[in-house]
Amino acid sequence: MLVLTTREQLSVASLAACRQHFLMLNLRRIFAVFAAIFFCFNAKAWDYERHRLVNDLALNTLPKDFPSFVQTDSNRERIMFLGGEPDRWRNNYDRALRHLNSPDHYFDVEYLEQYQLKATELSHFRYQFVEQMAVARTTFKLPLPSENSDNIKGHPGFLPWSINEHYLKLVSAFSYLKVFKEQGTTTEIANARANVVYRMGILSHFVGDTSQPLHTTKHYNGWVGENPKEYTTSKRFHSWIDGGFFKATTAPDRAALLRRLKSAGLLKRPKARDDASSQFQSIMKYVLAQHQQVEPLYQLEKENKLSPDDPAAGRIFLEGQLMKGSQMLGNLWHTAWKEAPPDRFLQSYLARRKLRKK
Ligand SMILES: [Zn+2]
Repeated sequence: MLVLTTREQLSVASLAACRQHFLMLNLRRIFAVFAAIFFCFNAKAWDYERHRLVNDLALNTLPKDFPSFVQTDSNRERIMFLGGEPDRWRNNYDRALRHLNSPDHYFDVEYLEQYQLKATELSHFRYQFVEQMAVARTTFKLPLPSENSDNIKGHPGFLPWSINEHYLKLVSAFSYLKVFKEQGTTTEIANARANVVYRMGILSHFVGDTSQPLHTTKHYNGWVGENPKEYTTSKRFHSWIDGGFFKATTAPDRAALLRRLKSAGLLKRPKARDDASSQFQSIMKYVLAQHQQVEPLYQLEKENKLSPDDPAAGRIFLEGQLMKGSQMLGNLWHTAWKEAPPDRFLQSYLARRKLRKK
């Protein structure tokens, strides 16, 4: 039996376990092994099709005056393709890449408790957050996270920081695009546009991940620890929510979801920049709101409403989550474009370059 204990092991380390399954392969077990392989390779986040849909819907929330190059068929396709990119990084065996990348995909809110940290009071600086945890480890004599080879077991993860940092890279891309459009060459403008598309795509993945509630909880793949309500402990639960449910029933109703989405709005940033950089507070709020959906999701499973026999309520719930992801993503893209200031450093560099050419 393959036992997966940490989220980062879901996609990558489980490949090693999958190999063992192959060694044990025999005719009697062939069906079970194929089932295990399916599970090993599919327990990630929303699956690729769901990430594509979140991006597709989000692109449709953008207002008419949003830069139109983003909406060409090839760029729309590229943004949808990139929705799966950070999960492709997780397919790499290298432990250093796993250590860096895996915690960016989740934020297991319950793990903050052992550090006596509150989600609403965390530093928006990633490394300051790491230091907050290190201080707590010493103060409360907590064990070091060395129980697994990647040294990230029991770590809450960095999802809100990841979204905020990728958001800021998108703001930067819009900032230099604005300047290149005025003072740059055709090639520079084309490169800057390509980067905006790339940045929109990478950001999209983490915003999409968040709307899958199991990315915000230690119960990410079946309930763990005390279980008075007897929620499922199945190690197939995560992949069932990622896409198994939709594959076993029918795909989400894109047209219906499109009709329900609102035009992308603007997120408010805090007045004092010392409190939080950029949209960190809005992002944290969004992450915590999805965490509130963890228990309702388990409850649906308990009531058999996530099964192909009685899928109506489960479908409403999961489609609603996909929509929340799309709406937040549209808002972030829109806000990044609107709030991007012209890149002043680049402006003066290009002005000097022009003078030198004269
Ligand atoms: Zn992910």
